[in-house]
Amino acid sequence: ATLPQRLSVIPRSWAEHAPQAWALHDGARHWTYAELTAAIDATVAQLRALQIRPGDRLMVVGENCAAQVALIFAAAEVDAWIVNVNGRLSAREVDQIRDHSGARRVIYTSAPDAASETAAHGLRHGAVSAPSPFGPWMIGALNPDCAPEPVHASSAQQVAALIYTTGTTGQPKGVMLTHRNLLFIAAVSSTLRGLTPTDRAYGVLPITHVYGLASVMLGTLYAGACLYLCPRFTPGAVLKAIRDDGLTILQGVPAMYARLLETQGGSGLQLASRLRFIYAGGSPLAPSLKAQVEQLFGLTLHNGYGMTETSPTISQTRLDQPRGDDSVGHAIPGVEVRLVDAGGADTMDGAAGELWVRGPNIMAGYYREPELTEATMRDGGWINTGDVARRDADGALFIIGRTKELIIRSGFNVYPLEVETVLNAHPAVTQSAVVGRGAADGNEEVVAFVEIDPRRHVTPEELQQYLAGQLSPYKCPSEIIVMPALPAAATGKILKGQLRQLAQR
Ligand code: ATP
Ligand code: MG
Repeated sequence: ATLPQRLSVIPRSWAEHAPQAWALHDGARHWTYAELTAAIDATVAQLRALQIRPGDRLMVVGENCAAQVALIFAAAEVDAWIVNVNGRLSAREVDQIRDHSGARRVIYTSAPDAASETAAHGLRHGAVSAPSPFGPWMIGALNPDCAPEPVHASSAQQVAALIYTTGTTGQPKGVMLTHRNLLFIAAVSSTLRGLTPTDRAYGVLPITHVYGLASVMLGTLYAGACLYLCPRFTPGAVLKAIRDDGLTILQGVPAMYARLLETQGGSGLQLASRLRFIYAGGSPLAPSLKAQVEQLFGLTLHNGYGMTETSPTISQTRLDQPRGDDSVGHAIPGVEVRLVDAGGADTMDGAAGELWVRGPNIMAGYYREPELTEATMRDGGWINTGDVARRDADGALFIIGRTKELIIRSGFNVYPLEVETVLNAHPAVTQSAVVGRGAADGNEEVVAFVEIDPRRHVTPEELQQYLAGQLSPYKCPSEIIVMPALPAAATGKILKGQLRQLAQR
């Protein structure tokens, strides 16, 4: 089937076919597809009145809510680029993205009296309250310096969203994703989850990031199913939604499942549950965590791998093939992968190599970074993921680590991921992050940060002993630092940049 041309075709076509079906539910009320479409119409009129022009960047600051969903579709309709930013970012980070994107305006989806960081930021920046189809939101001043970007007739080139990467390896980069990129992933996500209009998917991953936007939000609406919007993850809210709202699909990140386990223990869900598909992606999924989650839910926990630059999905485990290892599965239909050695040749016989990807999910480029774009993308449509992977005889992919995170210790290569995987398998460790520390002699040291399950106890010395039994000496950390909580992005990803600075001391 051919893809629609614009994001907003998704809700509009379901409003034709099933106007009374529920599109969104936010815990308090629901919106049918007809109501969502009416809200998008009203929002389009509002954006025009606010002088948002084709090619402008429209920044939206907030947390998952119906207003954000409507703004995404409305911006798409007027050919503006949506720059969605999570309300939990610091004021400095919000300002950096506003300046880098050259946004024409900022809309804050909270009401001015909401006790949220989002509302506080808006008020400090002189945003004023305005009515919206969803109650009051706040609108920032017009930025007269915003020059519109060219508008393309084809959805393959027209940018729909500008999304900033997590910043694990450096500064966050602005990724330009086109209508076609996002629609392709919406269609594939919907198909690979076997979604139908009777499904109810949990929408707790921030729709300000591409996993929450393309795979969860657009994937759900593409199938005419209902998205349960949740602004912030708490184990209690997930369990309640499973019990009371008949959720059928749960998509999250490994850190989220680790928290669920902490709350629920090994006791099993013991809820009448309609859940039929659970999925983790975005960060490495330890086999030990996977096994415990599968026991808790009585379902296979699927694993998916991707990056912002690939909208985001690259690979996913097979629907009909439960597996007990840490494979990230096979390249999704329509996407090709290559493993490349240092000389640029394809690796042979299952040897590891840098993973390159090609397909309709590859970004248009990094915004305002032509050199970086050129260094990352190759003629013929290939992009370098910067991840090192291997493939088994059956074609299933395994992520070994990131090229940029490679620690070279006395001439030996250490991939943090390998050390993290062993640490995470320890029963007392909730999550961990390993970084390099530059030493005076030019050699790097391995430093591990760990978060301990509050119900358990373990000392750094005990962890050192445990690692020594599992890893070669050069891979064992010179230092293990226990933290109550590792710094994390709104998506749950560990902010390694902060840890790298901490490790330098
Ligand atoms: P930056 O590019 O700014 O350094 P980032 O790469 O962490 O940050 P994202 O686009 O959010 O930003 O993350 C993509 C990366 O996350 C991938 O390149 C890969 O290293 C890692 N990743 C994603 N999913 C998985 C997975 N299932 N298993 C292992 N690693 C994963
Ligand atoms: Mg990256």
